[in-house]
Amino acid sequence: MSATVSFQGIGASPGVAVGHAYVLDAKRVRTPKIKLNKPETEAEVLRFKTAIDLSDRQLEELKKKLGDDGEEHGLILEAHRMMLHDPMFIVEVSRLIKEDTINAEWAVRRVCKRLRHQFDNLEDEYFRERKSDIEFVADRLVRNLMGEVVDQELEVPPHAIVCAHDISPADAAMLVRSGSIGAFVTDLGGQTSHTAIVARAREVPAVVGLGKACESIRSGDMVAVDGRRGLVLVNPTEEQLSLFRETMRRQLQSEQAALQTAELPAVTLDGVRVRLNGNMEFPEEIPSLLAHGAEGIGLYRTEFLFLNRSHPPTEEEHFESYKQVLQAMGSRPVTIRTLDLGGDKVPGKKHDKEINPAMGLRAIRYCLSHRELFRVQLRALLRASAFGNIRVMFPLVSSISELREARSELEACRSELSRQGVPVGKRFPIGIMVETPSAAWIADRLALEADFFSIGTNDLIQYSLAIDRQNRDVAYLYRPLHLAILRSLENIIRAGRNANIPVAMCGEMAGDAALTIVLLALGLEEFSMTAGQIPMVKNVIRQMTKEDAVTILEQAMKFSSAEEIERFIKAEVDRRFNAGDLV
Ligand code: PEP
Ligand code: MG
Repeated sequence: MSATVSFQGIGASPGVAVGHAYVLDAKRVRTPKIKLNKPETEAEVLRFKTAIDLSDRQLEELKKKLGDDGEEHGLILEAHRMMLHDPMFIVEVSRLIKEDTINAEWAVRRVCKRLRHQFDNLEDEYFRERKSDIEFVADRLVRNLMGEVVDQELEVPPHAIVCAHDISPADAAMLVRSGSIGAFVTDLGGQTSHTAIVARAREVPAVVGLGKACESIRSGDMVAVDGRRGLVLVNPTEEQLSLFRETMRRQLQSEQAALQTAELPAVTLDGVRVRLNGNMEFPEEIPSLLAHGAEGIGLYRTEFLFLNRSHPPTEEEHFESYKQVLQAMGSRPVTIRTLDLGGDKVPGKKHDKEINPAMGLRAIRYCLSHRELFRVQLRALLRASAFGNIRVMFPLVSSISELREARSELEACRSELSRQGVPVGKRFPIGIMVETPSAAWIADRLALEADFFSIGTNDLIQYSLAIDRQNRDVAYLYRPLHLAILRSLENIIRAGRNANIPVAMCGEMAGDAALTIVLLALGLEEFSMTAGQIPMVKNVIRQMTKEDAVTILEQAMKFSSAEEIERFIKAEVDRRFNAGDLV
């Protein structure tokens, strides 16, 4: 038996899997580079345009072939089609063919390389990741130009661990359709790469960003994957295998038990009812959220609409996405957050690099200084409001003036639409994300003018504790149970209660079942999290009394250091629950 090799990557979709590797052909498309004679270039441009048409038809075909599942990947495949037809792309490739007298394959690669470099300079991981889409579109074009076969059906054995340098959205779509993939393992990618997104939506464990691991994995190798820890073991020992299998067994058990609780209300033993909502980035996450018992959407991160594109979405595109989500959720509330974009987060435009983008022109600040972009979204939200139970919230509000300005922009859009005779739904709640220390401090005043709060602990912790959430070196200081955070939360929730407005939380803290006791004690009424976290949090809620939780928190807050508070809460949680079921 071969020696065990372990690889550490990025845990992109939680869950454990064990199975035989199926290595996707990592063969890169070789690009022929040919110098042409000037008179040949006309015909070469035509050949390039024919390849565009063919690629476009293939993508359309693929969407059809995927049937209902095509819906899920429709946006991505559609985005690839738009990239193919991008006038700048076509003009640039044609220009290179004519002026540099080179063949179409070479010209496509050169233009794509330039595009990729532009993406390299983006600070935001999500948009950087979109580079791979350019690559996939270029590969398809080059293969078509060379007359190669594309979109071959992949025959992957059941429960296989699919390993690849990278997986195209088309392949990922086909693979998940087969419904029995054990896990995805890729060399490239980050938390927001397609493989990660598709894997999370379909609850397939995935580890990405493994560097060169897949070069040393062969089809048939036994592979164990831990999608939470980002760990991949190739040819694990018998002992490691049985540990992984045991975790898989428990995972399956708790998943089944969890799904059975999906219909049960999140109510404490002493009758306190809370709402458990879902966080989402893409409409394809909705079925999984509902299956896990989400009662609504607590956070729809709309900046993800910028996926795969160099130009902002049109009003119509915004509208269609919101309408789709609202209709899918029926009468359940859907909380849509306006764009949380920042200086470096807008693709396709040149921006001066901000020295400190987290504190820069981001989120509501960005929208208020880019009114056209903001108004496109607001008009779409107003139009979509006729199709469901919408709530709209503004991110990163740090002053009352921002809330007032954003509200008045929304009202201006409403009047404009009504002047234009465009149908708009009834008035809906307008809330804010409380995620800056200043907002936490003036929560009592904000509560008088906002219809609801949603606490963004990811940013609230970052700004309160002065820890860059992207910086690994200070990650150890990122402590949700720091007394400063607990006091902040206390203040925000109290302000909401006094003003009689709902207070929700959609930061990561809300989905951590080990912290549910604390949030329950603080009086949080709405928790919003990813699908997989809902059952665990519900489990805790249904087995606690609020009274108990309050007593525990009172004692915990007598300690001064985060470590002491953490130790105390952990001991209380361990005493009541099987800790293994909470992670
Ligand atoms: C947060 O800050 O907690 C939050 C939910 O927003 P995001 O993670 O998108 O910044
Ligand atoms: Mg935030």
